[in-house]
Amino acid sequence: MAQEDYYKVLGVDRNASEQEINKAYRRLAKKYHPDLNHEPGAEEKYKQVNEAYEVLHDKQKRAQYDQFGSAGVNGQGGFGGDAQGAYSGHGFGGFSDFEDFFNDVFGGGAGQRQQVDPTAPQRGEDLNYTLTIDFMDAINGKKTQISYNRSETCQTCHGTGAEKGTHPIICDKCHGTGYMTITQRSVFGMLQRQTVCDKCQGKGVIIEHPCKTCHGKGTVEAKNTLEVDIPAGIDNGQQLRYEGQGEAGKNGGPYGDLYISYRIKPSKDFERRGNTIYTTVPISFAQATLGDEIKVKTVHGEKNLKIPAGTQPNQKFTLRGEGVPYIRGGGNGDQVTTVEVKIPKKVNEAQKQALVDFVKASGESITPQGKGFFERLKDKLNGD
Ligand SMILES: [Zn+2]
Ligand SMILES: [Zn+2]
Repeated sequence: MAQEDYYKVLGVDRNASEQEINKAYRRLAKKYHPDLNHEPGAEEKYKQVNEAYEVLHDKQKRAQYDQFGSAGVNGQGGFGGDAQGAYSGHGFGGFSDFEDFFNDVFGGGAGQRQQVDPTAPQRGEDLNYTLTIDFMDAINGKKTQISYNRSETCQTCHGTGAEKGTHPIICDKCHGTGYMTITQRSVFGMLQRQTVCDKCQGKGVIIEHPCKTCHGKGTVEAKNTLEVDIPAGIDNGQQLRYEGQGEAGKNGGPYGDLYISYRIKPSKDFERRGNTIYTTVPISFAQATLGDEIKVKTVHGEKNLKIPAGTQPNQKFTLRGEGVPYIRGGGNGDQVTTVEVKIPKKVNEAQKQALVDFVKASGESITPQGKGFFERLKDKLNGD
């Protein structure tokens, strides 16, 4: 409830004088006093009025509230009541000094987290979703639908957790802070320690008549179906954020976000590293030696590749612009194709004869290995 504008609660202007504030308070306190007003919500209203007055009638607190909002005065959780008085003698200049002091005394861990007002709006948790996609969908881009479970604001109670016509009331034990201050005796004297309020379990409010749909949680588990984008050029492990598609917030806070991580299935034809595609293509000894124009597979279809005469085994050729699109636009990466020169495992008679002639023409002297024909070939080469 600390989120209510205190000036609005009292129905006064931001420049209202002390007198005007006192007058407004007296009128509203009487109107909503639980002894006089038995309407539902009156008690809560009465507490709001008191809370607002407590801040606005105190010059220092009002100045802090004007500067920092409710965090400046209420954010200090358990210090709202007695403790504030106990420490006021230290002369804290402002909110941040006060917080430093708090952390010094209680050790960082004990403090800051607990300073959060449990009734303040809280953003929902973020969610992660891994989307597995086909290799080519990552190249060309696509839209697809995903479904996942998340918590959503209960539509019956609009997130309050209270049955229709009722309202959660501020916990009277902790005055809505969710924390209680416990005084303990120690070797250093009396120490004050904060602990979660046992009446409201730190929620700051008590729901007397829980909503039947969400059982007082304010949220329900629901399936969310979302159309998502696979941007052309998305790479393995990259993430996209979908705002507001995470878990429901608390106390009217916004939804968290959904992070989609992309996992790309491998391809049997292509290897991808960033925006570059790597392939291998077999060519014959004759093609490598004499040159040729061949067709190679690319992610953009079959393309022509000129193999120059005298190409060596494992020589690489770059096909400019035949790689993966840049996700932010501006064209594509390249494809690098490596040629594999295939040596025939078997040759027929005519091929053998041609090779013999080739060897002779090269002025080479070789000793072919094998049986049958090769025996005869050997003899022939030896000039018999
Ligand atoms: Zn509900
Ligand atoms: Zn409480």
